[in-house]
Formats: sequence, C-alpha cells, structure tokens
Amino acid sequence: MTQDCIFCRVARGETDSEVLHQDEHVVAFRDIAPQAPHHVLIIPRRHIATLDELGPEDAPLAGHMIHTAARLARDLGVAGEGYRLVFNCNRHGGQTVFHLHLHLLAGRPMHWPPG
Ligand code: AMP
Repeated sequence: MTQDCIFCRVARGETDSEVLHQDEHVVAFRDIAPQAPHHVLIIPRRHIATLDELGPEDAPLAGHMIHTAARLARDLGVAGEGYRLVFNCNRHGGQTVFHLHLHLLAGRPMHWPPG
C-alpha cells in the first residue's frame, strides 16, 4: 500500500466511496465520474500500478477481479443485457490512476471500436 494512492485509500476505507463488494483481496466501488448507468471499479487491495506489472503469480488475483465483476453484473441485474470490462494500461491505454483497476460498464449499449 502507498500512503498517497487514491485507490489504496479506498481500499483502506478512508474515502466515502460507495463500496459494492469487498473481501480479503479486492474492493469494488462506484466510479466517481460514471461513463454509463453502472460504472464500477474493481481493484486489488495490494498496490499494483499497472497491468504491465502483473506476474504469473498474480493470475489468481486477476481471475478473482474478473469473477467479481461478472458476479456484480449479475447482482446489478445487467448480465443478461450485457456489459463491458476494461483494463486501461499506461498512456496509450488511457490510464489515469496508477493502481490496477478493472472497469465494469453497463446499463447502455457500448460501441466498438472504443475511442
Ligand atoms: P483510468 O482512466 O482507467 O485510470 O480510470 C480511472 C478511473 O478512476 C476514472 O474512471 C475516474 O473517474 C475514477 N476515479 C478517480 N478517482 C476516483 C475516486 N476517488 N473514486 C472513484 N472513482 C475514481
């Protein structure tokens, strides 16, 4: 954990984020600037800056993040209509917060290709 990382602060419960799920490994909370009717971020509690830092030992954690997102989509009632999961990595990926996070976007049709 780092002192000044905003998502580490969320993971420590130091913000007024709307948390939808938390367990030993991950926290899921609503995005502060939602890009869809449902916009949830799933983060690892451990500070990992980018997807580029993941090692093979992190595969269970990454799988848990994806499984958590899929379960939340079902709980939110959007799984049937569908949703999008996104990891933005570094500058060309559009990453702005350097603590790994998985976006769950749902509640409207998504377009392809993305911008
Ligand atoms: P990215 O561009 O992939 O790094 O996404 C970062 C996301 O974090 C953006 O969608 C922001 O709106 C969101 N965000 C930044 N700060 C907060 C916060 N304190 N609580 C919830 N979401 C945040």
